[in-house]
Amino acid sequence: MKLAKSLAVFALALFARFAIAQQDFSKVEIKTEKLSDTVYMMTGAGGNLGLSAGPDAVFLIDDQFAPLTPRIRAAIAKITKKRVKFLLNTHWHFDHVGGNENLGKGGVLIFAHENVRKRMSTEQFIEFLGMKTKPDPKVALPVITFTSGVTFHLNGDEVRAFHVDNAHTDGDTVIHFIKSDVIHMGDTFFNKLYPFIDTSSGGSVDGVIAAADRVLAMAGDKTRIIPGHGPLGNKADLKAYRDMLATVSAGIKDQIKAGRKLEEVVASKPSAQFDDAWGKGFLPPEKFVTMLYGNLVKK
Ligand SMILES: [Zn+2]
Repeated sequence: MKLAKSLAVFALALFARFAIAQQDFSKVEIKTEKLSDTVYMMTGAGGNLGLSAGPDAVFLIDDQFAPLTPRIRAAIAKITKKRVKFLLNTHWHFDHVGGNENLGKGGVLIFAHENVRKRMSTEQFIEFLGMKTKPDPKVALPVITFTSGVTFHLNGDEVRAFHVDNAHTDGDTVIHFIKSDVIHMGDTFFNKLYPFIDTSSGGSVDGVIAAADRVLAMAGDKTRIIPGHGPLGNKADLKAYRDMLATVSAGIKDQIKAGRKLEEVVASKPSAQFDDAWGKGFLPPEKFVTMLYGNLVKK
C-alpha cells in the first residue's frame, strides 16, 4: 500500500510537470546540431530527434509533440528542400510520437518495433506517471513494423535500426548510422539525468544496462551518441551511465533480498555517490530510487 501511495504522489508531481511543459510549447525552439555530412541531432521539447538528410531522402527519428510539427518542419527546411519521407519511432511514449499524426497525414512512412504499434493502437496506462493515454488515430500508427530490426540504405550511409529487449519499454529501437558514426539510443540512454524506465510498458533496468552494453561494444571513442534526453553524448558518457545504473540497481537488489522495505531503501540513499552528477534533472534521487525499487521488486 505504502509503495502504491508514494508512487501515486510522485505520479501527480510528474504529471503536473508534463502539464506545465505542454503549455509552454509556444516558447520552444528547435535547435539543430550537425554531426556528420548527412546526420543531425535536433532538440526542442520531448525526446531528442535524429535526422538524415541528403540526395536520397529525408529520414527522421521521433517527432516530439504535435504542436511542434511546424517548427520541426521549418528546422528541417533550413537543411534540405526535400520533405520527410521516412519516420522511425524509437518507442511509443507521447513525447516521442506526438507528431506522428501530422506527419502521417503528410504521407510520411512510419516505421517502428511491432510493440510500438500495439501500444499506440490501444489505451495505455503508464503506472509510474499515473498517466492514461488514448489509442492513436490510424494515420499516426507505424505502417511498417519489425521485430528484430530494419536497415535503411540512404544518403550514402547504412542506417541499421535494431530492437533491444525490455529496456526503457518493450518496443525500443536503437539506430546506428554506420558511415556517419552516430548512434541514436532513444530513451534507453538519458545523458547526465537519472532515467525513467517504464516498468508498466515492459521496461527493466537490466534491459537498459544490456542495451548500453550492446552499444558500448559497437561504439568507438569518436562515436557521437544521441540520447533520448539530455545533451549529445559519447562512449565515455554511456559507460558512466551504464556503471551508475549497474551500481545503484545492484545495491537496491541486495536490500530487496534482505527484505528491506521501500522507505528503508530510500532512506539508505543507495544513489548518493551519483546524485550530484545525475540527480538534478528529470528525476531527483529519491524518485529515481523509488522507481528502480518498483522495477526490481516485481521480479
Ligand atoms: Zn520514453
